[in-house]
Amino acid sequence: MGASGGAGVVPGGSPMAGRPTERRLGILAIPLTFAVFVVDTFTDIESAIAVLYVLVLLLAATMLSRRGILRVAAGCGSLAVLSFLLSHRHDMDLSAVLRCGVSLSAILITGALLVRDHDSRALLVRANGALARSEKRYRAMFEQTRVSLWEQDFTAVTAALDALRAGGVTDLAAHVQAHPGWSREIGALIVTTNVNDATLELLGAAGRAQVLGPLERFLPEDDPAMPQVLLALWEGRDRFEGRAQLIAADGRVLTVLLGISFPDDGIGFDQVVVGIVDITQRERTQEALLAAQAELARAARAATLGALSASIAHELNQPLGAIVLNAQACLRWLRRDPPDIDTAAKAVDRMIRDGKRAAEIVQRTRGMLVKDARRDETIDLRQLVEEVAQLLERELAAAAAVLVTDFASDVPPVRGSRVGLQQVLINLVTNGLHAMAEAGSLRRDLIVTVDNSPEDIQGMAQVRVSVRDRGRGIDEGSRTRLFDPFFTTRPDGMGMGLAICRSTVESCGGTLSVHNHPEGGAVFEFTIPAAAPAPSTPSPPIPSPAPSSPIAPLAPVRED
Ligand code: ADP
Repeated sequence: MGASGGAGVVPGGSPMAGRPTERRLGILAIPLTFAVFVVDTFTDIESAIAVLYVLVLLLAATMLSRRGILRVAAGCGSLAVLSFLLSHRHDMDLSAVLRCGVSLSAILITGALLVRDHDSRALLVRANGALARSEKRYRAMFEQTRVSLWEQDFTAVTAALDALRAGGVTDLAAHVQAHPGWSREIGALIVTTNVNDATLELLGAAGRAQVLGPLERFLPEDDPAMPQVLLALWEGRDRFEGRAQLIAADGRVLTVLLGISFPDDGIGFDQVVVGIVDITQRERTQEALLAAQAELARAARAATLGALSASIAHELNQPLGAIVLNAQACLRWLRRDPPDIDTAAKAVDRMIRDGKRAAEIVQRTRGMLVKDARRDETIDLRQLVEEVAQLLERELAAAAAVLVTDFASDVPPVRGSRVGLQQVLINLVTNGLHAMAEAGSLRRDLIVTVDNSPEDIQGMAQVRVSVRDRGRGIDEGSRTRLFDPFFTTRPDGMGMGLAICRSTVESCGGTLSVHNHPEGGAVFEFTIPAAAPAPSTPSPPIPSPAPSSPIAPLAPVRED
């Protein structure tokens, strides 16, 4: 930016008004005209004196409009002809006519050049005026907006990237991964040249001097946004948008949304405009909300487990007590001399019967859990994916990842447990995020696809959902144990997620599998049978679960 009025012109005004010096020069043209006319008309000098009208024109043009220049040129031409007629009316020879012709040509050409110059100057004035107005508008917006705006000099950064390219680096993502501290070093080359008041407010800074200069002091050590900004520059993108962190003047860590417009013509990297919106408060509110939700879920689970164990204990007490009594009786019969084998065997029979009863009680309780978690609802899996994307918005942002969906348009609904399938998707997406973070992947898009499986199973169409990440994929050693309960490679993992996922999918009549994508990363894929088309007669409404059922949020138990 930084436009100003053009040289010798007043933006928005007429260039012909001229400055005082030009006006004085213009006034000089009047005596000069008179002098040239007198010398040309009343002396015997045999030369093209009238050519000096060119000087008149040049002097006068400094303060004249376009039309004025044309008039003066016409006037000078007329005076030259008049002098010629007056001084040569008796001896009109060829050389005199030629001299007059030369003078008229000079006046004409000079007039034409001055008019052209005048037009160019007028154009320049208009352009400068527009530029000045645009600059003013930009400045007003920059200063008055409530959005934090920064002007930053990226030239040292682009030079460093160019040097890297010249050094033979072609894959920046791989370079960043191999040199962990590099992106911060390069980020430190960004220099802030201007900020608006909203920025001072955002950072809690006392004045601009505190903010201007190297950006480094406001960058946290491990902000994942910097490598992404550098990647955007490297790929020649004209903008970057993402989530980042900033350290305020008082040391607070702010979470912000960042928007950077890079110049698309390759120049102007000395004044890159960066817009920032503070979302720290929003994040905190969301965190508190999630914590409250988690606390509620924990409490509900604890209550459920409490109620469940009380009911199991109650039901099992009787057969277990009977088993103990029968076992004691059995021992007594066996210790007799001689032992009463027949009666002891009867006691053992009773123990077996009671043991079986206890097993049935356990079985029924598990069945109850599975049935309840399955709750037969009609579900559009695309909608479920959208819901999960919203539920995990914060986790995705924290991992600097995006969830990309790819839905086929003609996917039928499925029937199953909404909560259960939602939990499956949450597990798979969360695992993908962990995998990408562990691999230090620079590109962090999770692709969730919902379409129709090309293969029917037992004559039933299947809906397929796949979750693809950009982590390291599944290694051969883990592949066979991945779905086993308690198998985990993560220090803080429990190894129950995938086991529960498979059990839930299977309880809906589907299958869950995994393979590695040819371009890297793991693809977890499950299929669920499509719901049968609705009958033409109105079907009874799907019974909603008993509101008091405390078992609903529990994960289903695997049947095998
Ligand atoms: P946890 O996440 O608690 O470890 P899970 O059952 O969800 O339990 O996952 C079991 C293991 O499977 C993980 O520890 C990890 O080794 C592997 N795994 C799961 N998802 C992925 C994935 N997307 N990419 C690579 N490995 C994965």
